[in-house]
Amino acid sequence: MRPVILKEKCPAQANICKAIIACPNHAISYVEDDDEPLGGRIEIDHAKCTGCGTCAKECCGMAIIME
Ligand code: SF4
Ligand code: SF4
Repeated sequence: MRPVILKEKCPAQANICKAIIACPNHAISYVEDDDEPLGGRIEIDHAKCTGCGTCAKECCGMAIIME
């Protein structure tokens, strides 16, 4: 199982993202990108991710699914 962010549900704000704080492996971060409609995105580093599912539970917008 690995987490996938549903971008249409995610406000992509570093200061409100609960998933970034919740990840025990620091695998989630905010990336600024002017090409994104919201000016940035939440990104998951799958090399660091162990698939624990905590981010999906803590996500403020139910925007992370495990698949
Ligand atoms: S907690 Fe979820 S919905 Fe909120 S910013 Fe982070 S990934 Fe997006
Ligand atoms: S599944 Fe666990 S390790 Fe992977 S990004 Fe989410 S909280 Fe971090």
